[in-house]
Order: sequence, then C-alpha cells, then structure tokens
Amino acid sequence: MCGIVGYVGHRPALGVVVEALRRMEYRGYDSAGVAILGEDGKLAVERRAGSPQVLVDALADHDPAEFAGTAGIGHTRWATHGRPTDRNAHPHRDATGEFAVVHNGIIENFIPLRAELEAAGIELESDTDSEVAAHLVALAYAEGPTAGDFVASVRSVLQRLEGAFTLVFAHAGHPDTIVAARRSTPLVIGVGEGEMFLGSDVAAFIEHTREAVELGQDQVVVITADGYKVTDFFGGEDVEIRPFTIDWDLKAAEKGGYNYFMLKEIQEQPQAVAETLMGHLVDGEIILDEQRLSAQDLRDIDKVFVVACGTAYHSGLVAKYAIEHWTRLPVEVELASEFRYRDPVLGQNTLVVAISQSGETADTLEAVRHAKDQGARVLAVCNTNGAQIPREADAVLYTRAGPEIGVASTKCFLAQVTANYLVGLALAQARGTKYQDEIMREFAELEAMPELIEKVLGTLDPVRALARELKDSPAVLFVGRHVGYPVALEGALKLKELAYMHAEGFAAGELKHGPIALLEDGLPVFVVMPSPKGRAVLHSKMLSNIREIQARGARTIVIAEEGDELVRPFADHLIEIPACPTLLQPLLSTVPLQAFAAELAEAKGYDVDKPRNLAKAVVVE
Ligand code: GLU
Repeated sequence: MCGIVGYVGHRPALGVVVEALRRMEYRGYDSAGVAILGEDGKLAVERRAGSPQVLVDALADHDPAEFAGTAGIGHTRWATHGRPTDRNAHPHRDATGEFAVVHNGIIENFIPLRAELEAAGIELESDTDSEVAAHLVALAYAEGPTAGDFVASVRSVLQRLEGAFTLVFAHAGHPDTIVAARRSTPLVIGVGEGEMFLGSDVAAFIEHTREAVELGQDQVVVITADGYKVTDFFGGEDVEIRPFTIDWDLKAAEKGGYNYFMLKEIQEQPQAVAETLMGHLVDGEIILDEQRLSAQDLRDIDKVFVVACGTAYHSGLVAKYAIEHWTRLPVEVELASEFRYRDPVLGQNTLVVAISQSGETADTLEAVRHAKDQGARVLAVCNTNGAQIPREADAVLYTRAGPEIGVASTKCFLAQVTANYLVGLALAQARGTKYQDEIMREFAELEAMPELIEKVLGTLDPVRALARELKDSPAVLFVGRHVGYPVALEGALKLKELAYMHAEGFAAGELKHGPIALLEDGLPVFVVMPSPKGRAVLHSKMLSNIREIQARGARTIVIAEEGDELVRPFADHLIEIPACPTLLQPLLSTVPLQAFAAELAEAKGYDVDKPRNLAKAVVVE
C-alpha cells in the first residue's frame, strides 16, 4: 500500500508529481520522494522520511534547474521492509545512479536477489526489498541479451520477481519515457493531451484527465508524452486494454468510489491478509520481520500473554486458540490496561505478544514496558513500521494492511488475526510441537484464505439489506463458541462503535448463565456457527444454543458454512460462508458483521469513518 505516480508530458514534471503525492498521502505517509528526468541525461532525485511537505521543504534547497524536466516518478511510502528513514525512502537507484525505481508492494524473494547482487560486488544502500529492482534492471541493461534495451531489461527482471509489486522505472538515458509494471498491486494510466500519467489510483491525476486505463495483472506499460503501450510481461505481446472514463470527484476517487474509507478497507481485506503472509515463509521456515531473540530464547518460552485493546484484543482472543493448539503453551489474553496495573507473573521465559495497529497505543506500550521491566520477552504485532512498540520489542511481525483511515478497524483486524496465526506457527516450529509438513499445510491453508474472503465480499448484499431493515432495533446480540466467541465480541464492538447501538457479544455457552434473560420476541441475535466438519461437539453444542435462542422468540441471524443443513431450520436469516478450517474461520465470519455494522450506521446517517468520541490511535492511557 503506497502512492505511486509517473508523468511524461509538456509541463514541468515536479509540480505534477508532488501534487499527486499530496493527493495520495492517505495511501502512505512514511516518506516521500521524486526522481525527475532532465534533458541533459541526468536524473535528479530527492527523498525524505516524513510527509510530502518534508520533501517539498528539502526540494527548496536544490537548484530548480536540476528538477526542471518534463518526465518523472514519485512515491509516498508505507514501509514494509526497513524503517521509515531517508535512506529507505523511494526512489531507489542503481550503483551508477542512472536508473531509479519506485515500488508498491513486497518483493518476496528479495533475500536471495540481494545476496546475488552482493556476491557480484554491489553495495545496497537501503534495507528495503525494493532496491534490488533498480540494480537488477541496470545489470540487465549493461550486458547480456537485453543490453541497451530499457523495456526488455525491465521485462527480464520482472520475470524473476515474486510477490506483489507495482514498479515504475526511470532511466537517465530515456528522458521522455517511463516504464512500469504490476502484479497484484494497482496501477492506472491517465491519458491526457500530449501528456500521460501513472498512478496507484485515479486520485493521482484526476484533475488533469478523466480518461484512464487500468493495467491488468502481469502487464507492462511504456508511457511517452504522446501515448502508451501495454504488453504482457512474459512474452511481450500486446494485450487487450481496459479504458474507462472517471466519473468520480476527487473525494470519491480517494475512497475508490465508496462513500467511506471503511467500506473500501473492508474490500481490501483479501489483499491485507495476502500481504501479511507474504515473505514470511522462506525455505520452509516461518520468519518474523524483526527478530532480536535467539532460537533458544523461543524454545525456552513457557508461557504466553497476549496484551491488546479493543479490536486488537479480539484478534488476541483468536490467537489463544491457535497458539495453544499448535504449541501446547499456556496463553492468557488480557486487556493491556488491566495487565499493566495488576501484578502479572512474568519471567524471562514469558513471551508477551503486544498487538497494536498504530504501534503507539498508550495502554499497550505501558504494558510492554511493564513486561520488559520484569524481564519478559516482547513480540509486537503492529501495522506501522518503526512505531514505538515495535522499537521497544524483542521481535516484530508487521501486519501489512496499509494505512487504515476508518477509525473502526476492519482490514487491520483481519491482518492481526493472520499475523497471530503466523506467531503461533513460528513458535510451533521453533519448539518442534508441529511436524514440518503440518506447518506447511497450515500455511497453505492460510494462503487460501484471501480468495475465500473475496467470495464472502461478493455475497454481502442481503446482509446490507438486513442492516437497513434492523436500523431501529433497540439492541443486537452476538453469540459464538470457540473462535466464534471473539468474532461475536468483534461484531458487537463494530455495532457499538459505528451505530451507537446497544450490542453485546457472548460465549454461547454462557447464555444460560445470565444473558438469556435479555432475549425477547424479535430481538436480533447473530449466531456464529462453527464448521460442521470440524469438532462435532462444537457444532452440536451450538445447535442446542440456537434452539434455546429461538425458543425465546428471538430472531436468529446465522453465519454458517455452506452446506450446513443442520442449522438451516433454526436460521431466520442465513449468511453462508465458504468452508475452511475451524481455527481460520474468523477471517471469514467477521466480514459480514463488519458490513452489517457499516450499513446500519450509514442507514442511521452517521459518519462511518469518524464515529463520535473515538480516535484512531489511542495515545493516552
Ligand atoms: N516494500 C517497499 C518498502 O518497504 C514498498 C512499500 C510500499 O508499498 O510503500 O519500501
């Protein structure tokens, strides 16, 4: 997730590129940079950690003539590999400084590619995965079958890359050409009069042109002032293009055409989960992003605490089921604010997993400091590279959901759940509590989830219709068992946050111990059913619970696996989700609940992105 821009035309490129970066700041704001091609065969580059304004201030110190060219590229970064520093900011250059590249996404096989470059005597300047692309293209251009051919050199390198990437290249020797390509991350071409644009989304160029072409998967585009050419990046053949006219205004364009960022973020969940998994399985080993603990430290862990707040806490509850099941380590999940001010029993063999989207959550940060004071090890699961919690932790796994603008978390929750599974698998591997083939199977099952989430996203219209129908309901309850219990809690939290509605989540088995007294005629109750193919006892106990609910006249809204015929008679509304392993089901069953809450809030006329009284990053205790 980041903002990428490219321009070739008749105006000074710098202004166009910087303006586009400002407009795409919502996509990433760790750092910003530009590379402008000069007529004199020089490539002028400036890049800075911080917002586009920091870049603009830095540009003021340059001779304007250096940056006067009419072609250029730019980037606002959302760091995945390497801290947000000047050195890691894009564009990255090759050793000669003639090629510059900006990158969105993750080059999964950058470790062997880096090693190959280092073995060839090339010194890499940054910690990013992206920089390898600049060096590889320069090498391909210098010698071999693609020597002297810019596009062929780019194409030959693309064929070696794994992962998700949009790459945009500039070469000093081609002051009137920009070459770009994409796989699994976005790139749109803006078609102007005597000028062409590239952008991660149309917000990059919407004020200059409304004619656009979406680049397809594994395609290369070459732009000059007069036109563009799209080819396939393997064979180099021409491909069918998909032109369209943009009819959104700038505000809608930023939100991908949705009314709210949150709705866009719900749609981005398959990508968030896929990118969180990317690069974490290398040569059969589950790896973390930062690891300052030894293998022995991990083996010695005898107790895990998961500490977090709000939605992140719910992701931690899911983690408990997975980590205990896979590692046989005892796991306690605790609200960070409670953990901090009691007297938890911690030692150097205790692992505290701290989950925070912003990496700055004050309650969680204080819990981390308290844990470290007692000698415990800390593993951070955060979405923001280089934030305070990851800086103070002994190990870090980043969720790669991209910036989340909606205050109520959606894609970050799914990414946190995914990251927590990876923590469980990494611990199981380090401790030898799972055979290697089992770890590989679990990982493969995780990799299949983005496609299943995509399917769920395609079936939500009836859920939205139901939300509008229930808009004036005085309360909504949610029940679940096992990993369905945290999902019920999260469903209720979303509804409280967004629709300011009384909503409660319960463990289904607890109903009869009290909350069942709340049930009355017509009260909507969401029931999260476990897979009928998983542990039979879970499913049958839930069937009993749903009977208890229906018997009291409540209206059951059931989220169940496709083909679960046993539950059908007890569902006043049935929301079907694809089959998947029970432990992973929260990645699917949460999605309809997010859509339900968002739709209901919209129906009530509330601001879905900015619910009252809430802040995105809670930096006070
Ligand atoms: N993986 C690259 C980095 O960390 C690109 C991140 C982005 O999409 O902004 O620099």
